[in-house]
This record gives sequence, structure tokens and C-alpha cells, in this order.
Amino acid sequence: MNRLEIENLGISFGGIKAVDSVSFSAAAGEVTSIIGPNGAGKTTLFNLISGVYAADTGHVRIEGADVTGEPPHRLARRGMARTFQNLQIFPQMTALDNVMTGCHLRETSNLLADLLGLPSSLRETAKSRGLALSALERVGLANLAARPASELSYGQLKRLEIARALVTGCSILLLDEPAAGCNAVETREVDDLIHAIADEGVCVVLIEHDMRMVMRISSHIVVLDQGSKIAEGKPEEIRDNERVIAAYLGAH
Ligand code: ATP
Repeated sequence: MNRLEIENLGISFGGIKAVDSVSFSAAAGEVTSIIGPNGAGKTTLFNLISGVYAADTGHVRIEGADVTGEPPHRLARRGMARTFQNLQIFPQMTALDNVMTGCHLRETSNLLADLLGLPSSLRETAKSRGLALSALERVGLANLAARPASELSYGQLKRLEIARALVTGCSILLLDEPAAGCNAVETREVDDLIHAIADEGVCVVLIEHDMRMVMRISSHIVVLDQGSKIAEGKPEEIRDNERVIAAYLGAH
């Protein structure tokens, strides 16, 4: 069974179909990329999948369960996490504290703390710190945990955002342009990180404009143009697809 299934998802703004009956599936342990020219509907599709917008049509299913219309915090408890196109980092807070802000989206069990008789605020903070530190380790930033985020490089901030999504314990990770603004070295680091996350069994879905990166890391690619899906397949199938080439040429 696919971990994430999108069926006929759609929404209109002022009579214009920003996303028009889009369907695709994304599997655990794979990287599925959503591509398309500017204004194709990619971010709107993410907003529909993650419950930011209520869809006019269609369904979202996680492990077969219909979760259409559930708000973002409920979807987070079902294992969905996302990052946004623009950095959503608190610059004055440390890297660790930034990641800890993601912990409230996680389902927590207080059983052990109850047995030990710890006050709830203390035990939650200790647990969150441990989770945040291991998320920082996963993205290669553990040595910068105590640094204010304002001192991190752009590439490090992009990985910090991924750590904040990972700390929720997600099984589905939506990444909106994870390498945007990164230089070639930073982009490769993001590549490696995304591969590692997928290899751990997470279902990764990403929006990305860097076509070379998309071709390198994707198992499956979904192409949108003017709100509709115009192609879908493996990187080698998409690379030579005439409709895809025409959509990109038409956008320039
Ligand atoms: P980009 O690559 O430039 O980020 P995109 O593929 O992510 O583009 P969207 O941002 O999803 O495209 O926009 C798709 C269309 O929907 C655009 O025409 C946009 O103006 C419109 N749109 C998106 N959100 C809204 C909204 N809240 N209200 C009105 N129109 C919207």
C-alpha cells in the first residue's frame, strides 16, 4: 500500500483552477518530486495535502485512511510534516531551540515520567531536548546546537528546517524547495540528507526547481502545468517527455 495517496485533489481561487483534479501516490522509502513551471500549482497542492487549504474536490489518504479535510496538527499526529518555501527560522534562538519548537507536534507518552514522578514541564523539556539533539545529528548540525540560528549559513538553515520537521517523528515529509538558494556544495548536502531520510523508510515528497537535483534524487516525478498533471514517471521518462519540455519552454 502506498503511504500517501492523492486522488482528484482540486481547488479554485476566484473561478481559476489552481489545482485541477490531481492524483498521484507516494511510497515509503522513496523520493517523489512535484515539478512544473512557476504558477503551476505546486505549493497550492502541498497546502491541500497538508491541510492548510480545504480542497474543493478529491481525497488525501495516509496508509489507506481518508484524512481529507483534517487540519495540519491532526495530520502531524498521523505522521505528516512539512517545510515551507521561505525559511521559517527564529534567528535569535539557538539551533536546538528552533528544532524544539517542532516537538509540540509530536505524540508524546508520559508513562515513564509519570512513574518517575517528574513534573510535566521538566520531563517534556528534557524529552524534547533529546529528540531535538538527535534530529540535529541526523541533519549533520549537532555541533552547532548551541549557536544562534543567525550564525548559521544558508545551507545549514535549510537543513535546520528539515531537522524541525524530522523531530515530529514523521513518516511522510513534504519539502517545499529544500535546495532553493543553496550553492552547489550545499545542494549536494541536501541531496545526501534527503537520500538518507528516504533510506530510513520515510515517504519524501518534494517541490524543487533545480532540475539536475530532481533528476538525481527522485524515484518518481509528477509534473504540473496550469494546475493539471501533465506527466508522471521515472526521471528518464520525464526528461524526454515532449509535453514537459513544451510546458517549460512555454514558461520562458
Ligand atoms: P512557484 O513555482 O512560482 O512557487 P507554484 O507552482 O508553487 O509556483 P502556486 O503558488 O501553487 O504555484 O500557485 C498556483 C496558482 O494559484 C497561481 O496562479 C497563484 O496565483 C494561485 N493561488 C495560489 N494561492 C492562492 C490564493 N490563496 N488566492 C488566490 N490565488 C492563489
